[in-house]
Parts: sequence; C-alpha cells; structure tokens
Amino acid sequence: MALERPLTLWMISSEITPYAQTGGLGDVLSALPAALAQKGHRVRRFLPGYGQVDRTGFQTDPEKIVIPSGPDSLSVSFSSKKEPSGVITTLIECPELFGNRRGIYGDSNADFPDNARRFSLFSRAVCELAANAENPPDILHGHDWHAALVPLFAKFTCSWRRAPKTVFTIHNLGYQGRFPEGELQWLSLPENVRNEVFRMEGIEYFGDVNFLKAALLYSDKLTTVSPTYAREILTPEHGAGLDGVLRKRAADLSGILNGVDYGVWNPETDALIPRKYGASSSKEGKRAARAALEKDFTLPPSNRPLLGVVSRLVHQKGIDVFLEAVPALLEVGVDLAILGAGDQGLVDTLERLRRSFPGRIGVFIGYNERASHFVFAGSDALLVPSRYEPCGLTQLYALRYGTLPIAHRTGGLADSICDLEEDPSGGTGFLFSPLTTAALAHAVRRAVSLWRENPAEWRAAQKRAVEQEFSWDKAASRYETLYRQLVD
Ligand code: ADP
Repeated sequence: MALERPLTLWMISSEITPYAQTGGLGDVLSALPAALAQKGHRVRRFLPGYGQVDRTGFQTDPEKIVIPSGPDSLSVSFSSKKEPSGVITTLIECPELFGNRRGIYGDSNADFPDNARRFSLFSRAVCELAANAENPPDILHGHDWHAALVPLFAKFTCSWRRAPKTVFTIHNLGYQGRFPEGELQWLSLPENVRNEVFRMEGIEYFGDVNFLKAALLYSDKLTTVSPTYAREILTPEHGAGLDGVLRKRAADLSGILNGVDYGVWNPETDALIPRKYGASSSKEGKRAARAALEKDFTLPPSNRPLLGVVSRLVHQKGIDVFLEAVPALLEVGVDLAILGAGDQGLVDTLERLRRSFPGRIGVFIGYNERASHFVFAGSDALLVPSRYEPCGLTQLYALRYGTLPIAHRTGGLADSICDLEEDPSGGTGFLFSPLTTAALAHAVRRAVSLWRENPAEWRAAQKRAVEQEFSWDKAASRYETLYRQLVD
C-alpha cells in the first residue's frame, strides 16, 4: 500500500494549555495537535496573542496582514514557536484587541464588550494567512464559537488557490457567541455575502448574529467530544436552540471522545502528589494524598469514605443539585472535599454548608492544579453531577487514580463510565439519572455500601478503573480518518 502523505493541519482555538486556559478546551488543544504530529502530520495551532501569554521562545514571523474590522482595519502580525512535539504554535498579535487585558473573555464582572470584534478578527486573520500561505493547510480545524467564523470566511471571503476543507469541533454547545445585529459589522462582509449569510437559514438567530451557527452550517464536517453528546445535541433538550440546524447536518456530525494526557495524569509519575502510587501501593499512596488534602482543605482526618468534586461552580455542572443533596450525603456517611471556582451564590451556599456541618466538608475555592491532583488521588470517589457534559475530563482523571466516579448519565460521562450495578464484573463507577437530589443521593448510597460491605469488589473496580485507557493516540486516529475522508 502506498504511504499516505502527511497532512497540513491548522487548528484554531481561543485556549491552548499552557498559554491560555479556562477549562478542558485548552487541554484538548495541548494534546490533540501533539498526537497528530506524532502520526507524522504538519500541525500548526493558532491562539489570540493575549497580553498574559508567556512569549518565551516565540519569534515574530515575517508576515503582516491588514484585516478589515468594521469601519477600520487593523494590522495583525504573527509570532510562532516550534514546540518539542514538532507542533507550531502561532499567536495572532493584535494588541488593540488582545493585549493588556486581564482575562481571556472578560474580567471578573462581565465579558469584554468587543468580543464579537475580537474573535471575528482572530478567525479572519488565520483564514487570510492560510489563503496567502506558501504551504496552505489541507484542513482548517476550528474549536468552539471563538473560531466558528473560520468556515464562513473560508467559504465566502477568502481567495484560494486551493481551498482547504473545514472541520469544526463543538466542545460545548452552551456557548454560542450570540450578539446583537449591530455587531455583524465586525465581520466586514461584502454586501452580497452579508445578505447571503444574515438570514434565518444562515447566521441570524432571532434577530441576533450567532457565531456558532456559522460553523454548524458552513463547516465540511462537524465533530463533538463524545458519541453520546453527538446524539444528545440533536434533541431539543440538549440542542441549546440549535438542534434543528444540527439535525440537518446529522450526516456530517460525529462524536470523538477526548483522551487524557497520561504524562500529567498518572499517579505512578505524578510529582504533585505526596507519594506516587501504582496498583500495588495504591492504598498507601491514596492515604498520603488524603492527608495532604485534609491539610489544604482544612478537613479533620476520619475513617469515612471521601467524596471529591473538582468543577467550575456553575449551573451546567449541576452544583446546585449537589449542594441541595449535601445533608443527605453526609447522612449516608461520606466526607466531602470540594475544589472549584465560579458563581458567588454557589460559593456562599457551600461556605454556609461547611459551617453548618463542622469537620465534614473541606472546601478550596479557586483554580488550583495541585489541589486538583490531591482530590483525584486522595478521594475514594469523585462526584460529577453535570446537567450536560460534552466529554468531561475529571472522571477520566479520577479513573486513572483509582477514584471511582459517581456521575449523571449524560454525554461523555455515559461513554466513559461503566455502571457497577449493570455490570458488576466490568463496572468502573456509578451512573445515575435523572439529575435529582434523590437519584444523586441514591448513587452515593450505592457507592458507600459497596465501599463498606464489599471492599474486595471495590478494589476490583478500582483496578479496572485504573486500567481504562483513554489515549489521545486513539482519538487522533479518529480525527485523522475524518481528515482523510475530506482530503481524499
Ligand atoms: P469544563 O471544560 O466544562 O470545565 P472538563 O471536565 O472538560 O470541564 O475540564 C475541566 C478541567 O479543569 C479539568 O482538567 C479539571 O481538573 C480542571 N479544573 C476545574 N476546576 C478546577 C479548579 N478549581 N482547580 C483546578 N483545576 C480545575
């Protein structure tokens, strides 16, 4: 068989770890490009040149492009860095829109008022660079709404010698980039294109402009980050108002489960936990991690099982349901360790509960990598009560640390956890549905009774959990197949 030629792949995202991250998106843009480069492809990834990005090792590229931006135009330059993986990271430098601000999308009070302009320019700059490139990409692969205009610009405004194919990944349908019609000006579309795209069958959405809709309509292929979520978003319940659009594209939509960077998330090599552990030393390793956690979360030692939560404290994550269930969970006999940041209302309730049940609830408010490792390693079980979860990473990490997930049966949680009641000899955790305090408490009760009454079964489940393999190599192969379908 003839060797297949390497592809030139450009990824476009508002987050890339370690340069800029607020959630799982950054992790994906860290690992997936590297896994594709490992397969021999030429991978370049693009990030807005936020002021706070550490520019060590970046060099300014020769290109400079002027991008129309409403009534003005803005000069954009590019700085790039070759990563040890071979992937090239390029920052879209436009200090007027990205420099000198605290936060990526907004400050602690609100989103930046010019986000439509910022991310429109970001997507357009990448497309124009591609159109002018000596080695143009085979594939432009955008991620989430901030890059959702890429397929639109590629289709309607760029002049191509050889047009690339476009792929778009939905990491979270809940965030769509919806703006009042006036913001459409920042796309700087020629009159005929504006008329073509700004209508109900296009990017208009109840009188507003919806960036995400552009990708859902104009991208050659669509993916999301788990097979179950790919099916769920076709329904009114999970379609966030775009299920109708998605149903029309169902034939081009697929779900590819994210992987885990086991270079970071592995108790055998984890330098952040007090004592590394493997299958034979997990008891000691987990005990040491729990002791460290108890110190950081001001939780007194106890013999009760520890239930951890690592989450953004927002509605999507079902934290409100969890907080309502807390008294029942304490009654079941677990201690709680919660790491998170987000809505002040939820934080206040959490603090109130902590004071009401002294010694039973450890709380760490803030985004803290080290504390998250303590929770994954030091807990017996990890609770993930998300209302919806496109893929979810925390349950994948928990599995590797021998911490059994207890999760709402939705999206990627349903795809990555096997329920112990349904499959006692193959189960790796506990799934519940619907998302109610009663169902959640029942699942925790199931977990606690197994932990108490059948430690051998619990250990066997832990062993199976640790052996689960959610590798990026597997995910990258799926993306590779998709790219080949388009290019060949
Ligand atoms: P989402 O991207 O919707 O927030 P994911 O489960 O896909 O959810 O990814 C969340 C990521 O952020 C995980 O890597 C998780 O460990 C991390 N994380 C979430 N909250 C915190 C926190 N308070 N401190 C440290 N890491 C956190």
